[in-house]
Amino acid sequence: MNSVKLLKKHDIGITELRILLLDELLAAKEPMSFDEFKTKANKTTFYRTMEQFQKVKLVTKIDLDGKGYYQINKGNNALFVCDICHHTKDLEFPTINNLKVNSVLVKGVCEECKDNDE
Ligand SMILES: [Zn+2]
Repeated sequence: MNSVKLLKKHDIGITELRILLLDELLAAKEPMSFDEFKTKANKTTFYRTMEQFQKVKLVTKIDLDGKGYYQINKGNNALFVCDICHHTKDLEFPTINNLKVNSVLVKGVCEECKDNDE
């Protein structure tokens, strides 16, 4: 789905900046922080835009070391995040008793960083 359609679907006004930011998120394989976006927006506008995306559940936010990382909301998501390199991996979504689980975030050290450490 393209960015314009997504914005329309979620009833968000279409601006060039929103399209550019969303394009980057759609293309990203991993959650992105403010610094990683090629589209340079001013910080306030950037965070306001992300907040808006979160509100309509278009984007989900992960907090890591006091920094926000954003990714397209793929519905129920289970994610592993490496503490060292911040690379992420999708995990199989777990079933936990009768709980209705919406998201899972597992933190640890990925294989590569573990190897480098030895
Ligand atoms: Zn790592």
